[in-house]
Amino acid sequence: MNAQPVCLYCQQANPTDESECRQCGMPLPAEAALAGERRLRRFGWFCVGLTIFCIVMFFWLPRSIV
Ligand SMILES: [Zn+2]
Repeated sequence: MNAQPVCLYCQQANPTDESECRQCGMPLPAEAALAGERRLRRFGWFCVGLTIFCIVMFFWLPRSIV
């Protein structure tokens, strides 16, 4: 929970109590926005994994059971 908010404009890591970037003065993203972005990235990796799993299963499982 002590991850430093990174500026979206100059990638400068700022202390958590700062509301504006120390380097360029732009407002820092809120903690909720950071968490949402992280969750979105995790969901993206989940989709990639699911796609790979489906491709592997497509070739690994038998086409017909007769
Ligand atoms: Zn900045």
